[in-house]
This record gives sequence, structure tokens and C-alpha cells, in this order.
Amino acid sequence: MDTRIMGVETEYGLHTVHPTKRPLAPDEVARYMFKPVVAWGNSSNVFIPNGSRLYLDVGSHPEYATAETTRVDELIASDSAGDAIMHQLVLQAQQAMADDGFDGDVYLYRNNADSLGNSYGSHENYMIERTTQYRRLTSALLPFLVTRQLIAGNGVVIKDPSALPLADQFPTRSEPHFAFSQRADYMHEAISSSSTRARPMINTRDEPHADSTKYRRLHVIVGDSNMSETTQLVRFGTTELLLRIIESGKPLRNLQLAHPVRAIRQTSHDLTGNTPLELADGRTMTALEIQEFYFQTAKDFLAQQGHHHDHLEQVMDLWERTLTAIATQNFSSIDTEIDWAIKHKFCTAYANKHQLDWDAARLVQLDMAYHDIHPERGLFNLLEARGAAARFLTDAQVDAAHDNPPATTRALLRHRFIETARALGMEYSMDWTHMKLNNHPMHTLYIRDAFETDISIVDDLFAKVA
Ligand code: ATP
Ligand code: MG
Ligand code: MG
Repeated sequence: MDTRIMGVETEYGLHTVHPTKRPLAPDEVARYMFKPVVAWGNSSNVFIPNGSRLYLDVGSHPEYATAETTRVDELIASDSAGDAIMHQLVLQAQQAMADDGFDGDVYLYRNNADSLGNSYGSHENYMIERTTQYRRLTSALLPFLVTRQLIAGNGVVIKDPSALPLADQFPTRSEPHFAFSQRADYMHEAISSSSTRARPMINTRDEPHADSTKYRRLHVIVGDSNMSETTQLVRFGTTELLLRIIESGKPLRNLQLAHPVRAIRQTSHDLTGNTPLELADGRTMTALEIQEFYFQTAKDFLAQQGHHHDHLEQVMDLWERTLTAIATQNFSSIDTEIDWAIKHKFCTAYANKHQLDWDAARLVQLDMAYHDIHPERGLFNLLEARGAAARFLTDAQVDAAHDNPPATTRALLRHRFIETARALGMEYSMDWTHMKLNNHPMHTLYIRDAFETDISIVDDLFAKVA
């Protein structure tokens, strides 16, 4: 595909602290957070004017799913706007809680595991053509995704390796250490149709949110929820590029892993990238070698194509520099751009100054603080403000994505629909493909084409029912 629909979903971790009293439970706080959403949309599952979806599933992990977009800058901007929207809900929740006599500080974390061992995700969605052989695509993609944490992991302080899930089945290094990925230790399967229980890396549930005779939606649920815009750029940019290479029919060397679930852990717990991973054909390759293979393949592919688009040069440059940094074990060339390296630099400096080892509770706290979305309290946000974390977008791009949809997809129609219905005081409901006025169900719009941008379709509907 030349242009591809993409979206990303972020689940947040919620935590409340009170200096003296027992704080409210996360699900109660989540209800406070979603009170304005329910008041506004009659449900804790709504689409908002920027075309994105805001919802609270069972449990207490608020989720934001970006609108469909075809451009990586718009994707990252929409995702970042989600943080700002969530932060606003937190501030309102704190106020409402205080009014009811439950004061305390609410923390929202954009990370992938809480202290109780629950994991939650950051799901990527890529539209693919139905004609692409799905098995071939996922098997070519999987070794890339298992090792993608080298370039897109969040980094994590592992205080007690024996406490990791499935630690008996997949023992890692026994001493406290710093690892690449927050999510890796929670993966139970490589590919499956279940997204929650089995915790697969790729979810195969066939829900394209589009014309199902033409398209599928590739649902990648293995990724860490990055804080850094430049890390997101390299994460989405490399993955999308790889899809194009696979779709082009170019034969790729078969790097199928013998044990993907073990390999993703082995990769995470070795910052050298040098642990040998067993391939299905009996050979071994290191995580770094696998990434280098994909990088070289991408480079050759782009050289043949002769043209670059959508920030690909920046993607390729950062990909290459990150692999070089790992190969040389000199992280200084990427330590403002790649989440694990940014976090590693900060934690290492702190540990040296205070003579701490990786089992220090303080380092675990700093790891958490890195993901606090509060603009003035979150550690990543503070680092970004002082220039220790690079940016890919401008404030203006993120601000614009707060209320405006991406420009190249049906999210434009959704935006138009919501704004018009609200202005007219009409109740509505929608999903990714439908837009319905509750009092005019016969006129429901069904927009199967995710690339549709003609808003007159929406205006015509309102003209009919007005
Ligand atoms: P859930 O996560 O609740 O199990 P789900 O995967 O359907 O279900 P949503 O949270 O509703 O997830 O998010 C769907 C994501 O898919 C959004 O980010 C959206 O932008 C994206 N998306 C919508 N249509 C398409 C499409 N045709 N192709 C690829 N992605 C799409
Ligand atoms: Mg979702
Ligand atoms: Mg999903």
C-alpha cells in the first residue's frame, strides 16, 4: 500500500496517593475521571471531535485510541493530544473528588505494568490488503517485532528478576538490572486471536473497521507505550516500512524464531543485544544481528525505490544510529531520542551520584515517574522541557490535534458529524465506520472507506433530517 491507515491505542495506569488516608481505589477514581465524558456522551465510550475514541473498559485503565491517519506525524500528534485530554480529565476528577471529601493526588502513567504485575498496552493498528498472505506477513514481521525493543523499548528497572511473570519458566539474569522493554516480560504468545488473556504480540481478531473484502487490520500489541516522540517515529516508521517491503513481494530471509516468547525476554534483558536467539531452522542470531538484517533490507529497498516520503530519512538515520549505539555500547548518540536510552542515562547518573544499585527502590520510583503524564511533574516531561529529550513535533502540531482530526481520513467526517450534531443538540452514537443520529436511525452513515474525506456526505445527512 502506498498510503496506509494507521492508529494507535494507549491504555493508562491509574494510581492515587493520599498522605494519611487510604486513597480511593483506581476503579472509583476512573469513574470520577469519566464523569464529564459520560455527561457529554451518555457513555464511558465516546468519540471526540478530533476523531479519536476515549473509553473505559472494565477495570481501571482509561484508554485513548487515535483517529485513523495516514501520516506518522499526525499519528504521533493525535496520540500526544490524548495525554493532554487525559490530563484534563485527571484535574477535573481531582476537583470532583475533593468536593466529595476524597482528596489525594491522582497519577496517570503512560507505561505498561503496575506494581501488582498487571500489564496494559499500546496497540498499533496498520491497515493491510486482504490479498497479502497474512501468515507470510506475520511470520516475516515477528522476528522484527521481538527485537524492535532495541530501537523502541521504554527501558525498565528490574529490581527483582525472580518476581517477573513466568520467571520460573523463562529465567533471566538473576541480579537486578536495567532492561530494554517494559512489555516483553508479559508476553505469553506470539500470535493469537485473544488480546487480553493470552497476551499475544500480534492479535489476529479479524475486525478491519473497513471493507472486509479488501482489507485487514494488523493489530500489533507487543509495543511499549513510548513517551518520546522520536522513539515513536522510529517505532511506527520502521514497522510501516517493513510492511511495505513484505507487501512488495520481495523475498525475505526466513528468520523465524524457535521460541518467540523466550526470545523477547532474552532480548530485553541484555543491553548488549548479543544474546544468541535460536531460530526455527536451528541456527542462532543475536537480537542485534536480526535488527541489522532488517535495517539493511530496508536500506536496499529504499535505494531501489528511489524516493522517500514521510520522514523516512529521519527514521532510517535514527534506526541506524541506535543499532550502532548498541553495537558499540556507547549510548551517547541516542540518549535524547530513544526512550530506553534517555531513561538509562538519567537513572545511571542518579545511581552513580547516590551510589545505588539497580535494586534501589528509588530507581524503581524514578522509572515510574518517567511515565507520569503530568506536564510539570512527570520525569520525561521535565527532561523534555530542559532539552534532555528531543522532539519530533512542535507544540503547535500537538495543540492542533487536540480538537482537529487528521486531514486524510474519514476522521474528518466524524469531526464534522460530532460538531454539527452537538451544535444542533442532537444525540448520536458511532463506531469507527458508523455515524448515527439516535432519532434518525434510518439515515445512519456507513463509511467503509477509511480514506473518505468528503465532508459533504455528512452535510447532506444533516440537510435531510433538519
Ligand atoms: P479493543 O482495543 O477495544 O479490543 P479495537 O482494537 O477495535 O478494540 P479501538 O480501541 O477501538 O480498538 O481502536 C481501533 C484503532 O484502529 C484506532 O486507533 C483506529 O484509528 C484504528 N483504525 C480504525 N480503522 C482502521 C482501519 N481501517 N485500519 C487500520 N486501523 C484502523
Ligand atoms: Mg482499544
Ligand atoms: Mg485494540
